[in-house]
Amino acid sequence: MQTLPNPTTAQPTANTALTDTTIHRRKTRPVPVGNITIGGGNPVVVQSMINEDTLDIEGSVAGIRRLHEIGCEIVRVTVPSMAHAKALAEIKQRLARTYLLVPLVADVHHNGMKIALEVAKHVDKVRINPGLYVFEKPNPNRTEYTPTEFAEIGEKIRATLEPLVISLRDQGKSMRIGVNHGSLAERMLFSYGDTPEGMVESALEFIRICESLDFRNLVISMKASRVPVMLAAYRLMVQRMDHLGMDYPLHLGVTEAGDGEYGRIKSTAGIGTLLAEGIGDTIRVSLTEAPEKEIPVCYSILQALGLRKTMVEYVACPSCGRTLFNLEEVLHQVREATKHLTGLDIAVMGCIVNGPGEMADADYGYVGKQPGYISLYRGRDEIKKVPESQGVDELIKLIQADGRWVDP
Ligand code: SF4
Repeated sequence: MQTLPNPTTAQPTANTALTDTTIHRRKTRPVPVGNITIGGGNPVVVQSMINEDTLDIEGSVAGIRRLHEIGCEIVRVTVPSMAHAKALAEIKQRLARTYLLVPLVADVHHNGMKIALEVAKHVDKVRINPGLYVFEKPNPNRTEYTPTEFAEIGEKIRATLEPLVISLRDQGKSMRIGVNHGSLAERMLFSYGDTPEGMVESALEFIRICESLDFRNLVISMKASRVPVMLAAYRLMVQRMDHLGMDYPLHLGVTEAGDGEYGRIKSTAGIGTLLAEGIGDTIRVSLTEAPEKEIPVCYSILQALGLRKTMVEYVACPSCGRTLFNLEEVLHQVREATKHLTGLDIAVMGCIVNGPGEMADADYGYVGKQPGYISLYRGRDEIKKVPESQGVDELIKLIQADGRWVDP
């Protein structure tokens, strides 16, 4: 039978936890990627990936720049061949000459050891997939892996990974150990099944090799296209790392999230849930759309959780029978006039019955007062009543008078 806590003797910590409105981020070590640092208490880093062919040097430079200009802090490129790896030398030089040294990550694929070694000279971080780095073709007749076979492949992985680890370590660069649920190595599937546990063991095997070579500039990811699998894998990874005294930062993402509204919701369900638990140091939203479309989604997730403030936070009621003006239209007007005032919280509420109380401590409020009139608030204080037709202009004047206005 469950015993209920005695309210007079219950520890205050339980209540504190329930009323705590702060996200307590998991403590992680700082990992450098060019001039950006992942983990170590730094703001959650936004990243994405260009979809240009890396051999198209001009297109790739333009794609990287386009992403960086809208706030993508780390850009990933794919490196399927040695020619692609070499092209990155030129891409990097051109970026340095014509723009900025954008932090770059190269994605290395099947049996990519030689390619990884080449590309490690030109980028800041190399992403490897443990399931593919030493690719063993699945054998349909196999029924088991003996411990000896398992260990033998482990040794092969170590020998293959070592030169890359040494190169990255000696250059002060980083590595992402990026496990994908959809591409676990066959021996992991046999030993642990197609499970979060298999994903975690895959990552740990690679982490241990890196640590044995005194290389700890590692970021770990556990992506899956199913949100519950992804959530379980990251949570288990955190638990295992805590147990083992490891503090590597995590890169969050839901793979193959698709496009449109559902792609965004699915990504948010996975990434947002973990961030709310304090898990995650860098995020990528993967959409089947132009990569530029991913960046605003990343920022919206981070802003909604209060983890980064990159835009004005608008608080607006859904409107109801009490609404005294066209709320959708007014919200649009207010947003158009004030969206550059990053850092401010502005509320647009339909009526004074519930509006002022529900403005969630916004800096300014625009609230329906009576037909044809609205009231402007500074915090919880009503400042003045003005005709609705002058509402937006008067709001701007109020912000200006407070010295919080900047020209767009
Ligand atoms: S704030 Fe007023 S208008 Fe808006 S939903 Fe609540 S009651 Fe309705």
